[in-house]
This record gives sequence, structure tokens and C-alpha cells, in this order.
Amino acid sequence: MISFWEKSSLLQKDIVIIGSGITGLSAAACIKEMQPERGVTVIDQGILPTGASTRNAGFACFGSLSEVIDDLFTMPQQEVIDLVSMRLSGLDILKKRLGEKSIDFQQHGGYEIINEADVHYVEKINFINELLSPLFGRSVYELRDEKISSFGFSSEHIKHLVYTPFEGQLDTGKMMSKLLSYCRDLSVEFITNTPVTKLEDVGDSVSVVLQDLLILNANKVLIATNGLTETLIPNTSVKPARGLLFITAPIPKLKFKGTFHMDKGYYYFRNFNKRVILGGGRNLDFVTEQTIKPGINPLIYKQLEGILKNIILPEHPKSDINIEQTWSGVMGFNNTKKVTIEIYSPNISTAVGLGGMGVAIGSLVGQKLAKTII
Ligand SMILES: Cc1cc2nc3c(=O)[nH]c(=O)nc-3n(C[C@H](O)[C@H](O)[C@H](O)COP(=O)(O)OP(=O)(O)OC[C@H]3O[C@@H](n4cnc5c(N)ncnc54)[C@H](O)[C@@H]3O)c2cc1C
Repeated sequence: MISFWEKSSLLQKDIVIIGSGITGLSAAACIKEMQPERGVTVIDQGILPTGASTRNAGFACFGSLSEVIDDLFTMPQQEVIDLVSMRLSGLDILKKRLGEKSIDFQQHGGYEIINEADVHYVEKINFINELLSPLFGRSVYELRDEKISSFGFSSEHIKHLVYTPFEGQLDTGKMMSKLLSYCRDLSVEFITNTPVTKLEDVGDSVSVVLQDLLILNANKVLIATNGLTETLIPNTSVKPARGLLFITAPIPKLKFKGTFHMDKGYYYFRNFNKRVILGGGRNLDFVTEQTIKPGINPLIYKQLEGILKNIILPEHPKSDINIEQTWSGVMGFNNTKKVTIEIYSPNISTAVGLGGMGVAIGSLVGQKLAKTII
């Protein structure tokens, strides 16, 4: 039972955004920056955002050498260039909006670890540098094999290191907390701990069902639910993909700084001050990992632990390497790398399926989502 007052005021909204990850919050920020008089309400099922945005590795990256080369097999050349450009633009918006210092953005560069099987990628460095030079104004990738030993990595497993100075890293927790406070300062309203269980575009507005209990009425709805979209839009092409990450306790003699991609991006690690953050391994068990449930896959954990101890930190006594915290997060993948930014029905738009690139493209995708209605 609801009152007349609840129905006429508290449950009447202008713009509702479902999902308080980087995409939803960036859309909210963008609307308020451009049209401060609009009412914006962000609804999330979690007390905190519970998707990928608070659980990622904080790589501010635009694509490793092998990723760009592989994309050229599945996408037209111009789309590959556009995707790199989107990632650069997204990072630019993020840094300008929140400030580099407040998200602890650090540009130590990025590296791709090339093993025996992937040596053929190195032959294409010049071609890819030429392809991307209009975006960067100089060569993007170069070999830095001398770093394999100075970083203390296993030279038995690593044949080459491909370096790019353009990659950076940030503190994911600080980024999301700053983005939340940025939105609050713009008077964005938040409803947390409340799943949206059904949506219906009724022509002149949208009815938004909260927790199967309350119906809220909105002029426009933006969906930014990423890997969790199929509960709202059952026929969505976006599939969930769980990713595993862990962070070590500080390692006093850690020899490297930067972001690192391995095995075509299926594994990735970085320094976080003197700690190592390592994640990936979904390719070991795609079927189990296509889930929205949080959880640690023991097979993947074991593989990551082996990589940490034998390839990344082989010089350190195994007893000195302590994994302090492990967690998982859910990404959303489309069949292609294209994010689904579309007008779903007259009053509902979606921006879902950001894959493993959301830190980089999320701010731009949020902007594009906002622009479907303003
Ligand atoms: C382990 C891991 C590591 C990653 N590392 C990187 C990286 O280093 N660099 C990079 O660029 N990207 C990385 N990513 C990808 C990046 O985090 C995502 O692409 C990005 O966060 C997606 O943001 P989003 O806002 O679109 O979705 P999400 O952050 O997933 O947010 C979706 C939100 O919608 C809410 N929601 C869903 N359904 C409902 C509902 N029915 N009702 C109410 N609320 C709902 C969820 O609670 C959630 O808060 C990583 C992802 C993972 C999982």
C-alpha cells in the first residue's frame, strides 16, 4: 500500500539510471553538467556498486600489441583505430572530471609479456606503430627486453617485453569514491540496496519496479547494468564473465612498476605501490566463469598463484609472498568488442557490455548514454 504523497512525489522521477558503476555514474555526471535542472536518480541493487567498477585492476590502458593485432582479424581496421581512440578519450574525460591526483593516476607505462608462442606478434610492431601514429603522434610500442631481468622476471618463460609509455594505472577505490562524491555534489539522488526487477515503457514514461514491491515512474530510464543485464533484459546479447583478482601483501624488494599484459591479455598484473595485483585466467574455465555469482574458481586461483611465484617473482622466496586478499567481479561481454549503446525503446536507453575496458571507456560510454536523452 502506498500513499497519495508517495505516488505523486517520492515515486515520480525525471531521469532514472540503473547501475552505479562507472558508466551509470558518468552518465549521471554528464547530464547534471549539461542540464543541472534535470532530476537524476541512480538506483543500484547493492549497498555499494556491485559490478565490475569497484572490483577491477585499475589499468588505464588502450590495448596491448597482441590485442590490437588480434582485433584486426575480427574488426575492420577503422573500428580497431576507433576503439583505441575511444579508450584514450574515455581516460581523458575521467582524468579531467576527477583530477589525476584524486584517482592516484600514475603513468609508469605498460608492458606486454611475450612468450615463445607469441613471438610472431613482435614482427608486426612497425606496422601497428604506423597504424596508430595519427592518434599518438609517435611510436606506441617498442621492445624493452633488457627489463626482463632488471624487473626480476623469469627469463625462462619470457622472450620479449613490449613497452608502451602511454599506459597508466589508477586506484580503483579512489576513482569510484570520487565519482560518487562528484555526483552527490551535483545533487544526483541515490537509491541503494534496491534491485530493479522489471521495467515497462508505457509510452509517455517508464514504470520501474523496485524489489518486486514498489513501482516508480520515470520520464526516461538509462540502463548501465553491464554483465548483470540479463536479469532486466532477458534477450540481451551481453553475457556475464567473472574475473578473479588478488593482491599481495607489500613486497619490500619489488623491482617493477607498471601494468603488464600476458597471454593475449588473459592474464594481467601491475604494481600497487609495493604490492602486486594479479588477475585473469578466465580462459581456463570459460563455462564456469560465465556467471553473475561471486566466487573464487580454485583452478584459476592455483594458476595465478603459480604465475605470481614462478614467472613474476621467481627471485623471491615463496614463503615471503603472501596473497592478502582475493575477490571476483563480473564483466559483461558482447559477441564483438562493441559496447551496446542504443535506444532500446522510446524512453529507455542502454549502454552495456564494456568487457575488460570499462575503466578506460566507461566515462565516454556514460557520456554517449546520456546524450541519447539530452
Ligand atoms: C576482475 C576485473 C578486472 C578488470 N580490470 C580492468 C582494468 O584494469 N581496466 C579496465 O579498463 N577495465 C577493467 N575491468 C572492466 C571494468 O571494470 C568494467 O568494464 C567496468 O567497470 C564496467 O562498468 P559499468 O558501470 O558498465 O558496469 P558495472 O561496474 O558492472 O556496474 C553495473 C552496476 O549495475 C548494478 N545493477 C545490475 N543489475 C541491477 C538491477 N537489476 N537493479 C539495480 N542495479 C543493478 C550493479 O549492482 C552494478 O553496480 C575489469 C573487470 C573485472 C571484473
